[in-house]
Amino acid sequence: MTTQFKLAAALILSGLIVAGCQKPAEKAQAPAAPAVQPTASVDVYPFTIGALQAVALKDGDLVLDNAKGQSPWADNAGVAEVLRPTGDTKIHLSIQPLLIRGDDKVVLIDTGAGGGMGTQGKLSASLAAAGVQPGQVTDILISHGHGDHVGGLVKNDALVFPNATIRMSAAEWTALQADAEQAALIPIITPRVETFEPGAQVTPSITAVSLQGHTPGHTGYEIVSGQDRLLYFGDALHSSVISVERPDFVNAWDFNSEAAVATRLALLGRGATQTLRVYGVHFPFPGLGTFRRQADGFVWVPESAPAQP
Ligand SMILES: [Zn+2]
Repeated sequence: MTTQFKLAAALILSGLIVAGCQKPAEKAQAPAAPAVQPTASVDVYPFTIGALQAVALKDGDLVLDNAKGQSPWADNAGVAEVLRPTGDTKIHLSIQPLLIRGDDKVVLIDTGAGGGMGTQGKLSASLAAAGVQPGQVTDILISHGHGDHVGGLVKNDALVFPNATIRMSAAEWTALQADAEQAALIPIITPRVETFEPGAQVTPSITAVSLQGHTPGHTGYEIVSGQDRLLYFGDALHSSVISVERPDFVNAWDFNSEAAVATRLALLGRGATQTLRVYGVHFPFPGLGTFRRQADGFVWVPESAPAQP
């Protein structure tokens, strides 16, 4: 794919760009949990977590060419070395928020870039293809306040998900309110925001997990139903190649690099030891898989073949 993107600077700054047509406000609707899952496509990937219905929803792609200095990792030569076996100098990052239905709730974890940062802004179409109207979403769980996660909350100065409570950690909300780049978002979402402390149970099946380092209140979400479990790890790892094979690499996108490295190593260790099913919002679509120990490090084992763009 030869899609051009606004480059690393725009990405690092996480600028929020919203555009498009205004839709009429929707009336509150009872959350629907359809009996049938949507059909899988390149943008929609349904799966289950115990009794819960989950759907990976494609929002867009970010591509950074390490050979052009677009990588956020400080060690450019080191990244080139890791990428060499792939025959590609580019780092491919997908964006796929996660939908969870069950417990009489329709939960969306992160909201994509809203078409900002040079991305495609597919979330609304992916959600519609999954059979869900924006007004049916009851809860939005935010991992952190960067533009590729909160960019889909607002469009044309209005809430995209008018009936949803927007939940994030108290530390992340404090940081987001102080972020000048997201200033336009704040007054619109404030009436809907509810904060929590690390470790809080945010729905009957979902627990907030503090994954420190990327942003001041960066949060993962652990979803449990019956014997099944899935950890949404947010931006604790960005690339299924670089972040997994060299978790020690310093990444300019991380607010606290030392803490971010420690979080990555702990997550990879736990993941491999427990064969924990995990979800990478920026890993190749649909972002589902496990980590496995290999030699003295780790590799990503996707649960299904990534879709071709
Ligand atoms: Zn991100």
